[in-house]
Amino acid sequence: MKIFPALASFFLTSYMACAATATQTFPTSAGEVKITPLVHASTLIQAGGKTIYIDPAKPAKLDGTPKADLILITDIHPDHMDPASIAEISKAGTEIMAPPAVVATVTSAKPIANGESKSWQGWTIEAVPAYNITRGPAPGKLYHDKGRGNGYVLTYGGKRFYFSGDTEGVPEMRALKNIDVAFVCMNLPYTMPPEEAADAVKAFHPKIVIPYHSPRFRPGGF
Ligand code: ZN
Repeated sequence: MKIFPALASFFLTSYMACAATATQTFPTSAGEVKITPLVHASTLIQAGGKTIYIDPAKPAKLDGTPKADLILITDIHPDHMDPASIAEISKAGTEIMAPPAVVATVTSAKPIANGESKSWQGWTIEAVPAYNITRGPAPGKLYHDKGRGNGYVLTYGGKRFYFSGDTEGVPEMRALKNIDVAFVCMNLPYTMPPEEAADAVKAFHPKIVIPYHSPRFRPGGF
C-alpha cells in the first residue's frame, strides 16, 4: 500500500505497482481520519467516533464492519447504490445522503444535488458533478449523464477529501481547489483510463492521489 504524490509521471509509472489496499490515516485539526478501501468504489471513513460509508455495495464484505452513522451514495448503478448493502450497515439513526436520482429508489436518503453542500457532525459535504463527456453504451449516449451523479468533497478538521464518483476528467474536477486527498476513479469503459485521470489530476494538483473504482481498490489487493 502506498500513498501517491500528485506527480503525474510518478502517478502513471506507479499506478500498476501500487494501490490503496489497507486503512490509511490522515491527520486533521479535528483528529485522525481513517479511510479503508472495501472494494471498487466502496469506502469506509472513520473519524471522531463516527462511521461514514461511500457507496457500500456488493461484493464489499460488510458483515463485521461498523454500522454507519452516514452513508453517501454517488449514483444509481448497482456498484454504487445497493439497497441490500445499505440495509446491512444501517442502524437506528443512520443518515443517508444521495443524488435525487438515487433518492427515487433509496427513499430514506436526503437529496443532495450537484453544487449543494451540507454540514454533518463536523464535516462539510459538497456534492460536485460526476459525468461522462465522451464515453457511453452507444453513439449519442453516455454512461453517466451530467447532473445525475455526485462526487463529494468532504472537509473535516481543515482537510479536504475528494471522492470522484464515476466521471471523466470533467472541468468541475479540474477546477477543484485545495484538495488534500483525491480518490480518483479509473476503469474502462465506464470512467477513464489512468492516463486521463493523471491529466485531470495535474490540473487540480491534490496533495495525495489514490486510484479507486479500480480492481486494485480492495483490502489485500496486493
Ligand atoms: Zn461505477
